[in-house]
Amino acid sequence: MTTNESRPPLPPELLMPWRTDERAALQAEARTFARETVLPIADELDPQKGEMPRSLIDAMAAKGWFGITIPADAGGLGLGVFEYCLVSEELARAWLSVGSILARGQGLGTQTIDAERRKELLRKSARGEWIGSIALSEPGAGSDLAGVETRAVRDGDDWVLTGTKRWAGFALNADFIEVLARTRDPEEGEPRSAGLEPFLVVKTPGTFPSGMTGHAIDKVGYHGFMTYHLELDAVRVPESDRLTGLYGDQGADADAGGFASVQRGLNIARVHTAARAVGVAQGALEDTWAYLQEREQFGKPLAEFQALRFVLADMAADVAQARAYWQQVAHLLDAGEAAETESAQVKLLATEMSVRVTNQAMQLHGGNGYTTERRVERYWRDARLTTIFEGTSEIQRRIISDRMLGK
Ligand SMILES: Cc1cc2nc3c(=O)[nH]c(=O)nc-3n(C[C@H](O)[C@H](O)[C@H](O)COP(=O)(O)OP(=O)(O)OC[C@H]3O[C@@H](n4cnc5c(N)ncnc54)[C@H](O)[C@@H]3O)c2cc1C
Repeated sequence: MTTNESRPPLPPELLMPWRTDERAALQAEARTFARETVLPIADELDPQKGEMPRSLIDAMAAKGWFGITIPADAGGLGLGVFEYCLVSEELARAWLSVGSILARGQGLGTQTIDAERRKELLRKSARGEWIGSIALSEPGAGSDLAGVETRAVRDGDDWVLTGTKRWAGFALNADFIEVLARTRDPEEGEPRSAGLEPFLVVKTPGTFPSGMTGHAIDKVGYHGFMTYHLELDAVRVPESDRLTGLYGDQGADADAGGFASVQRGLNIARVHTAARAVGVAQGALEDTWAYLQEREQFGKPLAEFQALRFVLADMAADVAQARAYWQQVAHLLDAGEAAETESAQVKLLATEMSVRVTNQAMQLHGGNGYTTERRVERYWRDARLTTIFEGTSEIQRRIISDRMLGK
């Protein structure tokens, strides 16, 4: 009979095939940075609903993190979706918005029709000098982006953009805003998305460009990353700044363009959101683990109560499962798989897990959890967003079930 004692230990590469020395070092670097640099800033600025400081962005840029997925010959680190998500999870463990800002590099806003300009912008993106805002959503177009009404009208060598955008994160301090606009109405038999194109609105950080006004939306959480309502009244964009794709190259062929490139960008965004949600849940888990040992009731630490320890165990297992899944899906994307269903599944599972775990964390903190004196309320507020943005849970379920039913 085989016993546990007589069974040889599994080699580490079989247990965690992703765990190379390089990745472990990158993860450790990001974890230290998150704990020592991001966390104190988050603790100070989150209660003030403040924007993350430029110095923090510069520190991440110096590490090359805005170009993790940009090829090395274009000035990036030449790594994959896996490493991008690995760093983002660690940053989100300290502050969700800092895990998010990395997505505003990685070649975003570089897919201009002019190949030379594209190369130059990609280098800037890798250096963290080309950080953007994405303005897709509108008051009447959220889950249903085909309902975008902002108009782009050709005028000589320019396009003239007019309309209202909502939820444009980081719009004021960005170097550019990617605006999705309608250049024409769909023709008979075409999908409703026909005629929608992304445009690059280049701007000076700290200001809005001519023809654009905006105000910050007062949110429940996700501070550090102000989110704007924008009015566009004849914003001019040169034809050379019409984009061929919504997302950056992110390791894909820059010329692939079209639906494949947009789809790949969406899938990467979903697994990136899953990794960020895991980071937030991990933060809540660690704080709860510490609190259960620190807080005493009925003459002993809370950690002595089995009912609470079992909740902690469930939380830890939930976080580990979601982490393993985002790592698997990132592997698939790096291997060139489309992984559309898997990306939707991991976005759904990891973000719902994050809401559940941060809710349990607050419960186990008792009254102290329901104060602004502890970080657990920040994790709880931030996790709540993850099931809403980057495609709601309902939209992920729709994608998954559509694929299952062959629609
Ligand atoms: C803090 C924050 C930051 C954001 N940042 C950005 C950004 O930087 N850039 C950007 O462009 N957008 C951004 N968004 C917008 C975000 O992507 C949308 O909020 C999201 O896609 C949902 O759209 P909606 O809010 O209009 O909700 P709606 O689409 O109105 O949905 C309302 C409810 O109906 C459900 N629902 C809708 N359609 C269906 C359907 N077909 N089947 C089943 N259920 C459905 C939804 O799941 C949801 O529960 C941000 C949003 C927030 C809150």
